[in-house]
Amino acid sequence: PVPTPTTTSTSTATGSETNAAQVADHYNARPDVGVEKRKESTIFRLKSFNNWLKSVLIGRYARPRDRVLDVGVGKGGDLLKWSKAKIQFFIGCDIASKSIEQARERYRTMRNPPFEAHFHAMDCYSEPISNVVAPDVVFDMVSMQFCLHYSFETEAKARMMLHNVTSQLKPGGVFIGTIPDAYWIVKKLKSESDDKLEIGNSIYSIRFERRDRFDKFGTKYWFHLEDAIDDCPEYLVHFPTFQKLAEEYGLELIYNKKFHQVYEEASQEVDFNHLLYRMNVISEDGHLSADDWEAANIYLAFAFKKKQ
Ligand code: SAM
Repeated sequence: PVPTPTTTSTSTATGSETNAAQVADHYNARPDVGVEKRKESTIFRLKSFNNWLKSVLIGRYARPRDRVLDVGVGKGGDLLKWSKAKIQFFIGCDIASKSIEQARERYRTMRNPPFEAHFHAMDCYSEPISNVVAPDVVFDMVSMQFCLHYSFETEAKARMMLHNVTSQLKPGGVFIGTIPDAYWIVKKLKSESDDKLEIGNSIYSIRFERRDRFDKFGTKYWFHLEDAIDDCPEYLVHFPTFQKLAEEYGLELIYNKKFHQVYEEASQEVDFNHLLYRMNVISEDGHLSADDWEAANIYLAFAFKKKQ
């Protein structure tokens, strides 16, 4: 039986609401710049690489005519990828209402949108998805890109997230996502001198408030990524805890790779290799810098299958 999550957070209501609000404000405040402006970004190659990696994940697991739920959809930056995957139905949810408006607008301006899409502003880690999606809607796939780690603020939030991922996912359906790799982050921090609370390079920094305790939930750090994220509170996802919790919700781990490994594998495949050029990860005038490449490896990609 799938455990029913509680709607109350284990941290104080004010504390957790403040953090969720802080995250929402942070993403709402980021402008949706056009393609040309995006090319001027200092992390243009890294952004292209992250987009390529999501295309690989979607390309591997999405099937034509899939019904997809995108939790933490943001400004809808993956809509074109879903369109290429020929899905038939899409629901996107995000706590940042301005991002949801932008995602809706992006969908509206897509040329002949090949699938039906709906967007909802909601806190996916504090309220059940059935508040906005009719309970009889069934998904073939759920995607959570660069956003699941915000739910690891408390166990209650992580459980609500998993409830939302699985409650309307069909048996055999797939759950894909990308998260920071806590193991890599902590290992890197511990390789620094004992008094250091921060790791990073010219484009990113990860700053902890303490380094003597890493709990399964609520281990906060501050993340800065040049031209993308200005010091936003995030939480470590202890992968064995995540996997164990996911199993309680009927999910079986089928894929778990660091971004560098995904690159090494997928770039050997002709189609994904061509995509590296088409998506500007590599071009005649350059590729990722050493600092971009290190920042790329903060993340890992995963896939789970819902048991039959
Ligand atoms: N998935 C998109 C992408 O890959 O471009 C957006 C990723 S952005 C780094 C993280 C997203 O998670 C933000 O849009 C943020 O608003 C969303 N998010 C954070 N906490 C959330 C919550 N409690 N419920 C829903 N969305 C949340």
